[in-house]
Amino acid sequence: MKKSVSNWGNYPVIESDERFFTLKEKLNSLLKEDKQLIARGNGRCYGDAGLADQIISTVKFDKVLAFDTTNGIFECQSGLTLDKILDVIVPKGWFLPVTPGTKFISVGGAVASDIHGKNHHVDGSFSNHVMEIELILASGETIICTPELHHDLFTATCGGMGLTGIITRVKFGLKKIETAYIKQKQVKARNLDHVLELFEEYKHYTYSVAWIDCLKKGSHFGRSILILGEHASKDDLTEKQKTAPLVLPIKKQVSIPFFFPSFVLNKWSVQLFNFLYYNKNFKNEINNVVPYEPFFYPLDAILNWNRGYGRKGFVQYQFVLPLSQKDGLTAILQKISSKGLGSFLAVLKVFGKQESLISFPDEGYTLALDFPVRKGLFDFLDELDQMVLQFGGRIYLSKDARMKPEIFWKSYPHAVEFADIVRKYDPGSRFSSVQSKRLLQTK
Ligand SMILES: Cc1cc2nc3c(=O)[nH]c(=O)nc-3n(C[C@H](O)[C@H](O)[C@H](O)COP(=O)(O)OP(=O)(O)OC[C@H]3O[C@@H](n4cnc5c(N)ncnc54)[C@H](O)[C@@H]3O)c2cc1C
Repeated sequence: MKKSVSNWGNYPVIESDERFFTLKEKLNSLLKEDKQLIARGNGRCYGDAGLADQIISTVKFDKVLAFDTTNGIFECQSGLTLDKILDVIVPKGWFLPVTPGTKFISVGGAVASDIHGKNHHVDGSFSNHVMEIELILASGETIICTPELHHDLFTATCGGMGLTGIITRVKFGLKKIETAYIKQKQVKARNLDHVLELFEEYKHYTYSVAWIDCLKKGSHFGRSILILGEHASKDDLTEKQKTAPLVLPIKKQVSIPFFFPSFVLNKWSVQLFNFLYYNKNFKNEINNVVPYEPFFYPLDAILNWNRGYGRKGFVQYQFVLPLSQKDGLTAILQKISSKGLGSFLAVLKVFGKQESLISFPDEGYTLALDFPVRKGLFDFLDELDQMVLQFGGRIYLSKDARMKPEIFWKSYPHAVEFADIVRKYDPGSRFSSVQSKRLLQTK
């Protein structure tokens, strides 16, 4: 039966027949129906990836299959979410090698978007830690691929947005930790130039991210808070924390129970939020030790925060520009700032080098902003796309809901090779989403 389905941005909303499975046999029988379909994890991508008339949801296919606690190697079914993995691995002294800003994503989604975290400049993206992927192809055949075995399929699956097949099992390496805490440093930056200097000064930190107030103009344009972190050692903890260093105190969660009306979000409310956020820390630098949860997943504390953008939904616009294009970053932020459409969230990170086929990260600066869907927004984002392209950047497919195909083909340097591999393994475009129809199948 069809029902309304959307991802985190609540845009677009489509009518879809979503099927679930707990056993491989059931999945195989679902795949015998000769229909176009796409795999979906926990729906935490923002736009139209993972949406189709027929969806195969992996969320009930979520078993831990193996955990080597000596060498930190984890293997699970693809629907298992990172929050459940953390519950298992942290008490044993291990952590995710790469994690996004929410822990409510599936491992299949982590591979298909080849997610990045605050540590890309040090640890790369998720696929750099993946040892083995089990995949069901359009033909129904099950294939194991690794960085060496079926290399083309492996590279096209990492960041391939589900177009090569259904990922059923993933084996990946973990990071050793002594405690469940992070040694955090927060530094205020006067403006955009200052925060870029600070990123350079603190590039030896494993984790770094800056929150930018993109509404500020003049000499404070781009004022930010840079947040840095390292996994804390036992010596960094209080005596009380030392008694159970791998266990976190019970956390509280609040929820937004309904969609906010659209008038709640306007230029003034955003400015007020940004003012309060920037001024919540009066000191220029704060050093403290915090549990890993608020450090990595500050927004997860508010369940359904996406409803705050109203029923029409929102899009998150995330792009990356090469390191040499600081002026491009300034020009794009200035354009956003002059429109006054900026969001609560403007997150800046630095990516290190990455060799990949279709993954988003590329050495440079990446900025992510939320925009509530409203009249004229998509024309404005089309203009931003042209700027991103002109400065040699690209847009994250996992956040996208509206990019024009020509931007995709021009900005992803290996798009043609990727499409060839997808065609080799899925000649009839069995795996296709609203996004892939918009971007790939129009060429
Ligand atoms: C608050 C928030 C913060 C975020 N922060 C970051 C961040 O810092 N870095 C980052 O990289 N991303 C970030 N994201 C995006 C998110 O990590 C990715 O979109 C991720 O792919 C979502 O996983 P999911 O399980 O929800 O997958 P879905 O959203 O359901 O699907 C995403 C894509 O993966 C494909 N897919 C899912 N499961 C499978 C499978 N088993 N086999 C084949 N294909 C599959 C789908 O077809 C789709 O194309 C964030 C998202 C939110 C909501």
